[in-house]
Parts: sequence; structure tokens; C-alpha cells
Amino acid sequence: MAPEKQPFSLYIHIPYCVSKCPYCDFNVHVVSKIPEREYGAALLRELEVYARSDHWRGRGLKSVFFGGGTPSTFSPQSIGRILEQARSLFPFTEDVEVTLEANPEKEDQKHFSAYRSCGVNRLSLGVQSFQPRLLKFLGRLHSADESREALRVIRQVGFRNFSLDLIYGSPGQSLADLQADLAEALSFQPPHLSAYNLTIEEGTPFHHQLNAGRIRPLPEDEEIAMAELIEETLSRSGLERYEISNYARPGWQSRHNSNYWQGGDYLGIGAGAHSYVSCEGNSVFGLRWHDERNPARYMEMVKREGTAVAESESVGLAKAAAEFMFVGLRMMNGVSTDDFSGRFGKRPEEFYPQIGAWVEEGLMEARGGAVRLTRRGVLVSNSIFVNFV
Ligand code: SF4
Repeated sequence: MAPEKQPFSLYIHIPYCVSKCPYCDFNVHVVSKIPEREYGAALLRELEVYARSDHWRGRGLKSVFFGGGTPSTFSPQSIGRILEQARSLFPFTEDVEVTLEANPEKEDQKHFSAYRSCGVNRLSLGVQSFQPRLLKFLGRLHSADESREALRVIRQVGFRNFSLDLIYGSPGQSLADLQADLAEALSFQPPHLSAYNLTIEEGTPFHHQLNAGRIRPLPEDEEIAMAELIEETLSRSGLERYEISNYARPGWQSRHNSNYWQGGDYLGIGAGAHSYVSCEGNSVFGLRWHDERNPARYMEMVKREGTAVAESESVGLAKAAAEFMFVGLRMMNGVSTDDFSGRFGKRPEEFYPQIGAWVEEGLMEARGGAVRLTRRGVLVSNSIFVNFV
């Protein structure tokens, strides 16, 4: 099937949070009153306009992801309206995955059942840690007990598919802390678990504290020991690592995120959301754009113009190939040689001769119809990825 006919993924950005965590560098806004109705109306309008455009008209939808921010700040009625609109404009595939990111707070838990009734079939729960002192350090508003309760409610209301998110590598975290987090997470038998290494991004409060010497990152060897502990513990429990930070029981991988990592098309709506559509038949391999980041300006633009594109670019051969490698290498299966040469006319090793050197160093392997990182390569993946940026 030509790429422009294949089912795509839809990302919906809800940019509001009750407070901002000190490590967060997402497009997040803390406001005294969340303009749920106006923002929801802008999302509906944007969807309607894109459904008429050449890139998206008539295409099937294979996944919908409400991300943020905190999408669970929006009521099930608003989420339901957006899903209804999406379903009326694009045929949903039979196995469509509809994910909503939720925080474990009591207020959010109250809505879990209604989210399920309105069509959400997967929750991604930001637990981060079960250790009260680490939750406090991360600036999270929920308690470990709220996470435990939220995980029970998720099951109780009938979500078979959910993801539990943890953060590791916080200053002051020990291997024993991490072990306790993993054991407790596993006791809830999640079909999917994400374990993110805490990164301190420029411009965040943590970055200022780091510069002022008030926090000290963990030594690299401790972070590596943590990454190894995570992989060993989770794989022993049947959660297979399928992406650098993501683990799942067979068949429960995130379809939405896998679409990004496999270079599929996605439409992003909402403040700051990114979109990518591949093109065939000329020197332009893809188009990418992102929406205005500021929610108030985003809503104004949608009211005026129907969409809110802040910046767009055509992606040429070199960039499209590099991005395909960059995201594909995040997956443990790696980049399929056939997929790569089908899109770009050459095998990955021909396009990037340095792959040979990485294979010799034991950081990559090129066999079985794919190029992938080895276990050692995963540990130094950032130093490989910079070559594709
Ligand atoms: S809850 Fe998530 S999106 Fe909101 S500030 Fe914290 S890390 Fe950022």
C-alpha cells in the first residue's frame, strides 16, 4: 500500500498540568483555570480541517494518543467528544489503540471508568517511583499509595492494557530503591512498563540546581548498573525490552509509539504538537510541521485559520534517511534492511559506511535482515545517535 494510503497515528496534546515538575521540559502550562471547553473546541476544529486535506482524507486510524501535559485534567466528556469526532472523520482500524496518559491522583482515578466507556482502551500511568522521598524530589504531587490505588482501579474498571511509567537515575536513588520500585511495579503485572532515565534538560529548575551545585547526577557506572538491573529484572518476569526505555509482554507493545519508531505517518493536533507525513515520487521524502506552542495563541489561530501551523519543512533524502535510522535504532529489532532500501534506494550499510566500524566495535550487528544495536551499543546509544542528528 502506498504510504499516503496507510493507516496513521493521531497524537492529541493536552498542555495543562496542575503544577510543573522540576525536570519537565515538555510544552506544559499551569493556569488558574483550564480552558477545557475552548481548547477542546479548537481540537475538534483542527481535526475537521485536517480530515479534508489531501494528506489525511479517507485514511484509517490505527492509534490515538492523548499526551501532555496531563490529559487526565480533561473530563471524560471532552475526551469522548474528541474520540467521537475522530471516529466520524477517519475509519478506525479494528485493533485501534487509544491511549490516555494519566496521573495517579485521586481526582484523576475517579474518571478512569468513564474514560474506558468513552473509547480509551489503554492508560499510561505516571507512577515514576513508589519511594516517597524520590516522588518528593521529582516534584510529583501524588503519593505512592495513590499509585497503588490507581493501579488497582485500572484493573477494577476493566483496562487490560495499561503501561506503568517509572523514572530511574534520580540523584540519591540507590540500586536497592530501584529494586524495590521494580518489585512493586511487577506485583501489579503490567502488560507494559516504561523505565525512563532521568535526564536534566537545559532551562529546567533541575538544570539550575545542577549548575548551582545543589544536585549531583549519579555517576555513570551507577546509571549503567541501574539500566542492567532493569533489563534483567523485567526480562525475568516476561517483560521483553523492545525499545531502549520500553518493555512489554509479547503482543502488548505500544502501537502508537512503535509507529513513530518505524517511521510511520502521524498527525499531531494541539499546542506544540508535531506531525509528519511521508511523500513519494519526488525529491521530497516527507513533510513535517508543528503547531503554535502557546495554548492561547494556538486557540486563536485555530479559530481564525482552522489550523495553527507555526513552522513546517520539507524533508529531503539525507534527513529522512538519518531520521529513519535514528528512531529505528531505538527499537531492539532495529532497522529493517528491506524497509530502509525500499524507501531510500540503498542498504543502511551502504548509506552509512560507519556502521561497519560500529559492528567491529561490537556496538551494532547487521544480520537477519536488520541493523540493530547490541546490548553494549544500547548502553552508549546517545553517542551513536548524534551521528544521525
Ligand atoms: S506531570 Fe508530566 S507533563 Fe506535567 S509537569 Fe510533570 S512531567 Fe511534565
